[in-house]
Amino acid sequence: MSNIVTRFAPSPTGRLHVGNVRTALINWLFARANAGRFMLRLDDTDQARSRPEYVDAIRQDLGWLGLSPDGEVRQSDRSALYDAAFDRLVAAGRIYPAYETAEELDVKRKVQLSRRLPPVYDRAALRLSEEDRAQLEEAGTKPHWRFRLDTDAAIEWTDLVRGPAHVDPASLSDPVVRRADGSYLYMLPSVVDDIDMGITHVVRGEDHVTNSGVQLQMFAALDAPPPRFAHISLLTGAEGGKLSKRAGSLGMDEIRALGIEPVTIAALLARIGTSRSIEPVDDLSALAEGFDFTTFSRAAARFDVADLVPLNAKIVHGLDYDRVADRLPTGMDKPAWMALRSNVEIVGDAAALWQLVTGPVDAQFTAEDHEFLTAARETLAALDWSHDIWQRWTTELKAKTGRKGKGLFMPLRQALTGQDHGPEMAALLPLIGREQALARLGKAGA
Ligand code: GLU
Repeated sequence: MSNIVTRFAPSPTGRLHVGNVRTALINWLFARANAGRFMLRLDDTDQARSRPEYVDAIRQDLGWLGLSPDGEVRQSDRSALYDAAFDRLVAAGRIYPAYETAEELDVKRKVQLSRRLPPVYDRAALRLSEEDRAQLEEAGTKPHWRFRLDTDAAIEWTDLVRGPAHVDPASLSDPVVRRADGSYLYMLPSVVDDIDMGITHVVRGEDHVTNSGVQLQMFAALDAPPPRFAHISLLTGAEGGKLSKRAGSLGMDEIRALGIEPVTIAALLARIGTSRSIEPVDDLSALAEGFDFTTFSRAAARFDVADLVPLNAKIVHGLDYDRVADRLPTGMDKPAWMALRSNVEIVGDAAALWQLVTGPVDAQFTAEDHEFLTAARETLAALDWSHDIWQRWTTELKAKTGRKGKGLFMPLRQALTGQDHGPEMAALLPLIGREQALARLGKAGA
């Protein structure tokens, strides 16, 4: 095992969607490719919005995808750790109390904007005397708490995807890290956890670039070596407009409802937005091979849900019976799956195919076809049954009746399956079996 540790840190305030599954997957793949560990961190400090059912759904979706974590922590269990870091930063003068109401802050922002100034917090709270603070608190005003950014120099790092990256702290407000009610906002607990869990690589969406700048200062303030960062581009839809907005927010429940294999969604999400091609792999380890952040593009990754079905079809065509057995219709055994799998797009299509084999079959024929089908039945009855029965039977029928092409094959298909289209009859007929085939031909010829 290497010392590489990654984490996926969803907030259990909803189901996982395509965008955060991609983040989870890339964290998992990078950890696997480097014999490291992949951790799940549930960011459930927001008591009002976090729900236990979403915690379960996240675990289930990750399990379904095969992205099982090597460990799990919940932020709601860890407030003692956050308190310790908070106290330490207060003592060091890096966190300070501020007393403005939301309305006051809003007015300040509006004034700044009207003067064409950046709406950055003016640090008025830092200028309060001890007396001012005592007065405010006596009057019942509870402070919220801000992290004092060091604005002397740009914050710089080498991002594994974006290369040289920087954030100008002077353009940012000192972030609020704790609310007046004592609860923490996202920023500080995340750093405390990354330190405590020994996270070596923080891999997340590029919407977190600014947060990373702020958090780098928090790591330094807590005397902890910072992790490496990889900010992956966000997802965009196939075309502009609505789909674009929905691209990253398509839920895992919706994807599952399409009947898509977990490995299909992984195969697509692992490669969009990279220079590597999308391949119909049959397991996640194939995707981890050769994983490399330098193949990731800074441009938005294009996600089109319509790409899932054709990719799924290719993957399913190579799936062994064991991978699908529990999802096949009763009676559909290994030989049947192997003969028919190349005809499905999703495993769920097998049910309709299997009905072609089991019947019942109903079709109408002309008098001429009746006659032909009667002859076809007699010919079949006289042949030895074997896997190449279709070939031998139709060759003989062709010679006997002079029919060929559609005129030969269509009535046979209709009589045997009740349909005009479907899988190769050469594959279907052995599955239908001699007895059933003769019965169906008998019915059609009658
Ligand atoms: N809960 C945060 C989010 O979902 C985590 C961000 C991070 O990876 O640190 O955006």
